[in-house]
Amino acid sequence: VRTVGIIGGGQLGRMLAMAAARLGIRTVVLEPQADCPAAQVANAQIVAAYDDPAALEALAGQCDVVTYEFENVPVGAAERLAHSVRVFPPPRALEVSQDRLVEKRFINDCGVATAPFEAVDSQAELEAALDGFGGIGVLKTRRMGYDGKGQRMFRSPAESRRGVFAALGSVPLILEGLIAFEREISIIAARAQDGTIVCYDPAENVHRDGILHTSTVPAAISEATADQARRAARAILDRLDYVGVIGVEFFVLGDGQLVANEMAPRVHNSGHWTEAACVISQFEQHMRAVAGLSLGDGRRHSDCVMYNLIGDDIETVPAWLKTPDALVHLYGKTESRPCRKMGHVTKLR
Ligand code: ATP
Ligand code: MG
Ligand code: MG
Repeated sequence: VRTVGIIGGGQLGRMLAMAAARLGIRTVVLEPQADCPAAQVANAQIVAAYDDPAALEALAGQCDVVTYEFENVPVGAAERLAHSVRVFPPPRALEVSQDRLVEKRFINDCGVATAPFEAVDSQAELEAALDGFGGIGVLKTRRMGYDGKGQRMFRSPAESRRGVFAALGSVPLILEGLIAFEREISIIAARAQDGTIVCYDPAENVHRDGILHTSTVPAAISEATADQARRAARAILDRLDYVGVIGVEFFVLGDGQLVANEMAPRVHNSGHWTEAACVISQFEQHMRAVAGLSLGDGRRHSDCVMYNLIGDDIETVPAWLKTPDALVHLYGKTESRPCRKMGHVTKLR
């Protein structure tokens, strides 16, 4: 494999392109925004929409393999592309992770527990479903939600439900049971074309305003819980005949049992620490998998904490640069806005 196409030109695409360069692999990014983070490091960019047929044809013509950095690539586009070029992870992984209802059913089919859930397609269904859950739960849009957007939490049966379906955009929703978790973890795992699977150690994640704030490794969990996370990741990867890196998020209950929250068929923010605390980062691991190379090991040589730099956090960079054992990674975004991911720092402990 000489050239890999990457659909999506954000920071994940950028870090994939950086890892590819070190392996001597060329990258072509498909992204409508010309001045995107990935364009600064990829070998070439096709400036077009993710589902533009001519652009996809051009991408297939220029690349040996195509991958993606985000899960909202239109499934139809990925499937069409797969007729002319290898696409990893498989388009089925997109289909599953684009819709929280399909995703939860799929995860359950893999033998992995999720929160109880129910589809909600109207205000009347919303009220009935909430009644069935005792008035407590988390309502989410089935599609397109990220960083906690498109969600509404009901922590008490007294909370008003009036107009909530319309407030969430009158789109298909899912109601989930509210999980009283002790902590949140995620696991990053990779599967190669020959079926080999490599897992990184689970990270413990803390969110601030719905956005990932820190990932700490090791997580404060037992070996049995870590093993449960690895087994869940393996079951999901095998069932999808997956190739590439995946991120799976879990809630950890008081008894150490895991409840899966969601999965992302791509490199994951909670795996950024791997570039500082492992010899082979999640980005290199993903490029190795999609390019048909041997996977690296997932061993961690250091304990660490990854801090996301969101919006004004960018102002802490000068101090981080003076901090020993801190790896600063900026995404080349010129303008800082609230909630915008500008970079991250991994501090070894
Ligand atoms: P991401 O940016 O991780 O893709 P998202 O918008 O897809 O976020 P979720 O990961 O589903 O949203 O939820 C965001 C956060 O809200 C979770 O990390 C967790 O803290 C809380 N949360 C979500 N679902 C539940 C639940 N069923 N019970 C308790 N807390 C929940
Ligand atoms: Mg999500
Ligand atoms: Mg999440």
